[in-house]
Amino acid sequence: MIYVTQPNMPPLEEFTAYLEQIWESKWLTNQGPFHQELEEKLCTYLGVDHISLFSNGTLALLTALQALHIGGEVITTPFSFVATTHALWWNNIKPVFVDIDPKTFNLDPDRIEAAITPQTSAILPVHVYGNPCANDRIQQIADTYGLKVIYDAAHAFGIKQNDVSVLRQGDLSVLSFHSTKVFTTIEGGAIVSPDLKTKVRIDYLKNFGFADEVTVVAPGINAKLNEIQSAYGLLQLKHVDENIRLRSVVDRTYREQLTGIPGLHVMDIPLNVDHNYGYFPITIDEAAYGRSRDQVYDLLKEQGIYTRRYFYPLISEFPVYRGLPSATPANLPVAHRAAQSVLCLPIYPALTIEDVGRICRLLKRS
Ligand SMILES: *Cc1c(COP(=O)(O)O)cnc(C)c1O
Repeated sequence: MIYVTQPNMPPLEEFTAYLEQIWESKWLTNQGPFHQELEEKLCTYLGVDHISLFSNGTLALLTALQALHIGGEVITTPFSFVATTHALWWNNIKPVFVDIDPKTFNLDPDRIEAAITPQTSAILPVHVYGNPCANDRIQQIADTYGLKVIYDAAHAFGIKQNDVSVLRQGDLSVLSFHSTKVFTTIEGGAIVSPDLKTKVRIDYLKNFGFADEVTVVAPGINAKLNEIQSAYGLLQLKHVDENIRLRSVVDRTYREQLTGIPGLHVMDIPLNVDHNYGYFPITIDEAAYGRSRDQVYDLLKEQGIYTRRYFYPLISEFPVYRGLPSATPANLPVAHRAAQSVLCLPIYPALTIEDVGRICRLLKRS
């Protein structure tokens, strides 16, 4: 069986060594030494100034919106994991869906302005598959209309554009460290802040609003990452460069073997981007390929190869959201086409070149 992803477990003896330290100290959560060390090491690794760790990416998204007092309407993409829009809903914010760019599958900057109303307070774009959004254009629009920008950067761990982390874009960036992601703390996430003042406020918010033992400065939530998961994260970080390198070999092999197949398109990585190879999306044009995307999905599944249709269905198609005026398919033609044609192939550090070859042969023959 080959799944779309497989967690890369750190060596067990390295983890037990950390567990012994935790057992010894009996410090299990609440900004312990491993939590502290992981925040510092992640700042260095990612090339950002301030990070707040979270127990998952969804709580980090919820808290990012709280931290900036976002309300009213927020412009976002329907082509993402549901948590992006759920985070708005849980904050009583009305999501306004805008269509995506046909090349990158990210929010189309040309369509943002038409969706702005007096109630718009922010833009929530997603760096889909780790491919950077049109950050400069988005920031320009945000500056013109006085909007905040919060990036759902769940796929963008370690992504650099012109040698600068994409996590430095916008007002805040939110990461997910779920086990399906390139870097993981089993469950986990983080908010990247541009300044210490914002980080400190976010740290209060993730700990019930406590500023000190007797002072509660905001109606905070509990979204803390514990010591065991922080230690796991430190081990992941030690091996993450090697894991990304192994992923890049898989990526390169797919690219070499999947060229020249009519109707099968591989998504480009821009030359100025350092990628993390978290996903390997292809699109199937049924007319030219001779099979639909869903037929390819089924065919591979019969062979024990589990691909994923990220992102199908679109968020705007789920019952809670499909009644919104912006969710109408006529407003989102590119996203609908993408959701019908995209397929994410297996990619993870332990995936062998032989297995990649087998998947490619099946795609050529089918
Ligand atoms: C994984 C993911 C999330 C949610 O993160 P969790 O850590 O699972 O809560 C949010 N947005 C996107 C785009 C994701 O892929």
